[in-house]
Amino acid sequence: MTAAPKSMDAIMALCKRRGFVFQASDIYGGINGFWDYGPLGAQLKKNLREAWWQDMIMNPCWGRKGPNGQRVQCVPLETCIIQHPKVWEASGHVGGFNDPMVDCKETKGRYRYDHVMVYVPAGGAAAAGDKPIFAYVGDQPSETKQKKKAEKTFGEVASVALSTIPQPWTRVIGPDAEKPGTLTEPRMFNLMFDTIPGAIRDEANKAYLRPETAQGVFLHFKNVVDSSRVRIPFGIGNTGRSFRNEVTPRNFTFRSREFEQAELEFFCHPDESKAWYEFWRDFRMDWWKSIGLAGENLILREHDKDELSHYSVGTSDVEYRFPFTAPGFGELEGIAHRGNYDLTQHQTHSKVKLEYYDTTRGELLPNGGRKGERYIPHCIEPAAGLDRGALALICEAYTRDDTRPSPEFLKLHPRVAPIKAAIFALMDKDGMPEVADKLADEVFAKFGRYGFIENDAKQSIGKRYARMDEAGCPFCFTIDSDTLKDQTVTVRDRDTGQQQRIGIDKVCGFLTEKLGL
Ligand code: ATP
Repeated sequence: MTAAPKSMDAIMALCKRRGFVFQASDIYGGINGFWDYGPLGAQLKKNLREAWWQDMIMNPCWGRKGPNGQRVQCVPLETCIIQHPKVWEASGHVGGFNDPMVDCKETKGRYRYDHVMVYVPAGGAAAAGDKPIFAYVGDQPSETKQKKKAEKTFGEVASVALSTIPQPWTRVIGPDAEKPGTLTEPRMFNLMFDTIPGAIRDEANKAYLRPETAQGVFLHFKNVVDSSRVRIPFGIGNTGRSFRNEVTPRNFTFRSREFEQAELEFFCHPDESKAWYEFWRDFRMDWWKSIGLAGENLILREHDKDELSHYSVGTSDVEYRFPFTAPGFGELEGIAHRGNYDLTQHQTHSKVKLEYYDTTRGELLPNGGRKGERYIPHCIEPAAGLDRGALALICEAYTRDDTRPSPEFLKLHPRVAPIKAAIFALMDKDGMPEVADKLADEVFAKFGRYGFIENDAKQSIGKRYARMDEAGCPFCFTIDSDTLKDQTVTVRDRDTGQQQRIGIDKVCGFLTEKLGL
């Protein structure tokens, strides 16, 4: 049986209360589609980014051998948010990065066509006769408001996509409208933010904020090959902010207008691309599991042939069942086989040859070497979103147990938890704080680079534990009167609330083992 979805309101309240996520420009009333991270959220996201960097670039795939039987090779790159505008023509974003939108003539609202649903009589749209039918966007206030109106009109109602209703939609009442017939037919809307670098404010100088980090990699494919020792097959990773003028930003940080991506472009010979695609697809699923998303909330979904981009041989998504998508799933990462589409496009548009000369292939020569082969490599792209990743980690970790003195806690995996350990003096007297300070110094020296180490002697111990539970701190060490006698401390486990005593000199060893760092 699937458990009831967790309350998104409770998760968002905890995120704000404990400083994980704040609305951007909060004191001015916020700005739609933009979110900032507080101290704990910033550290959580950094841990996630670093876990990605470590497991994708520095020690790719935990040392697993690729389909060629060799260690996987990857290097990083860091590229600008603003690039030459022609980049986005070549990549297809200027022409094709569009979502069909419907506008409402009454309210001036604009909605993504594939997000608009309508309430019709339970017997189907035809049963509505000439009565109005009610459009809404899921998870928006329009959903309940329109449902109530529809039920008043028809009794029992069903919900179908707007696209199933023939146009013109003269009887459709828009999500926030009063009168029927105000929705326009779907039109294309470009999702890229533009800007004008330099002093001359002229359309001809228009540039764009990148909508993905991937293109920066293709631009430097040749520079990386020429300047480093990587040889095909190899990957180039790029992380950073991307921007999309999403029409309906929603579901907390899930669909934002500014977000962070971690993308790898893995280049290989066309004949080996299918094997590499399968390799990356499987590894990426294992990776998300390794940082705490294991279980039935995580799935790998292979796209149907008709969902694939025109150049793609295969794509799968790692999807997580967020409380707001349940019982459905939302995309965390897409793993796409992009063929040689991007390099070919940039070669055509820039007129710079982006072929690779592979000396390990081609005809065998009498001297035992190979003649070599020139080709445009194929590319496998695991493209992850760090904000969606952080949100999934928080949603998965959020646990409510009313039998505990502190009912809400975050079961964050120790690798991503922003606070790694807390050192508490039970009382602010009898030399306990001094012992705690000394232990905290030791723990800080060893683990401080991975996250916060708390050291706090204020408040009741129950309150301090509750604060650490909500922040997802896996272990609290407490110095009490026994510590002064026998040099032991209590260790409290966040998930069970159980305590055990260990020697004060064993604390760092305990953390090394449990944090898996
Ligand atoms: P969607 O269909 O949800 O709009 P997408 O398929 O367009 O996503 P990609 O272009 O594959 O997304 O981008 C790769 C990753 O970047 C996504 O899996 C997601 O984690 C992240 N991402 C994309 N758009 C957003 C957004 N608006 N807000 C937050 N993260 C995003």
